[in-house]
Amino acid sequence: MGDTAKPHPLGVCKACGAITYRKELVNQRCIRARRGSRCGGTFAVASRDACWKQCTSCSGTGKQGAVACTYCRGIGWNLAKPWSL
Ligand SMILES: [Zn+2]
Ligand SMILES: [Zn+2]
Repeated sequence: MGDTAKPHPLGVCKACGAITYRKELVNQRCIRARRGSRCGGTFAVASRDACWKQCTSCSGTGKQGAVACTYCRGIGWNLAKPWSL
């Protein structure tokens, strides 16, 4: 299979945990809608490699076979220090 490790996200919403790969959204308001209203959180900076740990369950591919990896929500990465955002 051609599954390769993915790049880590650049920002994480502190309120809902949504991630973004777009650096222009970092420090901007989260774009995710929840229960009909827009999330009130902002994307915190998580652009450094040290912010992330590659998921060991899927080796950073975000997949386990044909389904999204449940340990990293299909992201391929988990936050190294979620409390420090
Ligand atoms: Zn959010
Ligand atoms: Zn994973």
